[in-house]
Amino acid sequence: MSFSTLGLAPSLLNAITEIGYLQPTAIQREAIPAILRGEDVLGAAQTGSGKTAAFALPMLQTLLAKRGGPRQLHGLILVPTRELAAQVGESVRQLVSMLPTTYKVQVVFGGVSINPQMLALRGGTDILVATPGRLLDLIDHNAVRIEQTSMLVLDEADRLLDLGFSEELNRILALLPAQRQNLFFSATFPPAVQKLADSLLRTPTRIEVLAESSDQPAITQRAISVDVPRRTMLLKHLIQQHKWRGVMVFVASRYASDHVADKLRRNGIHAESFHGELSQGARTQTLTDFRSGYLQVLVATDVAARGIDIARLPAVVNYDLPRSAVDYTHRIGRTGRAGESGMAISFVSADAEQHFRLIEKRQNQRVPREVIAGFEPTETAQPVSAVTDIVNGGIKGKRKSKKDKLREAAANEGTGE
Ligand code: AMP
Repeated sequence: MSFSTLGLAPSLLNAITEIGYLQPTAIQREAIPAILRGEDVLGAAQTGSGKTAAFALPMLQTLLAKRGGPRQLHGLILVPTRELAAQVGESVRQLVSMLPTTYKVQVVFGGVSINPQMLALRGGTDILVATPGRLLDLIDHNAVRIEQTSMLVLDEADRLLDLGFSEELNRILALLPAQRQNLFFSATFPPAVQKLADSLLRTPTRIEVLAESSDQPAITQRAISVDVPRRTMLLKHLIQQHKWRGVMVFVASRYASDHVADKLRRNGIHAESFHGELSQGARTQTLTDFRSGYLQVLVATDVAARGIDIARLPAVVNYDLPRSAVDYTHRIGRTGRAGESGMAISFVSADAEQHFRLIEKRQNQRVPREVIAGFEPTETAQPVSAVTDIVNGGIKGKRKSKKDKLREAAANEGTGE
């Protein structure tokens, strides 16, 4: 199956050849023709499936065919995090750079000064990649108008809602023209995400890319039973044994991220922590170092790691287990990207055993527990009640939002608690 049968214009086929993609991925095969037909699309796919090109290629093709005013916003791509914004922007710009016509692609996100973004948006833009909060700020400053947008993409819709962007999304949707094409991508479809999709999409073409599909990269999942205090040394052992060029290690908190990175460095392994409290400059530098292979280990929290694209990551380690099965899926999706095989290893302490079983259940699979010589576990689990608290809080995958806490407080007041 080649790209040439999908209905793409010659200039886009040339761009694809220049970039070096040989065959379309599953999501590209199904989404590109549907988007070119003008249909709304509901895509169940993860980062790593090639979904960015799946929406960017037809978006550029409709832009090429358009006779609208120059720099009038054509495509609006909403993403949950700044890392994903930067990454999607980079992918779209790469495609645009191969086209005969020049188009402006702007990327905006919060956490950095708004002024340079306002300046960059002067004179308009053809494609805008944005996180919702910053987009609204820019609209409030009259720096951008979205009333004429032809195509809306929600990328990682589940994460947009997880991160509490629901109100911002509603405000943005109210400003968009009724007549537009909607492309909705999400790795998972819990009820809130499904509801958003139902309200947004008109008789969409549904596309589901199953993890088992043959052109998905092979990810070997492993689970190693180990005591909590032995995890760093086990990690060091695995890094040395497998000679991984790059490994992403997931931890539960910012503190753990600094702590584990520090311990690894003291053991002669080049590691850096990566979390939301670091400055944008520090995060960008760390990612650049990691991508270039200079940095061997990135110790990250879930939110910080979400959406960043690091090609050919050989391994991912769950040093701390994720809170939810959804996060587990996102984490292991960091390895084995775009056709490469990868290894996802979870450290399972006695206390985390129950929690990991629930993740397995949600994933509908069982990962055999391994014991590594020299790291045999000796700990036993805490009494069950202590564990189920963690499990119940964790596996539901919902941290309490501000609203939840307010509702809870209001309810407690009502009951006199
Ligand atoms: P995405 O799911 O959009 O984040 O893409 C994951 C990675 O796959 C990116 O590094 C893309 O450059 C790469 N990619 C996308 N489409 C293809 C393709 N048809 N063939 C090979 N690699 C691809």
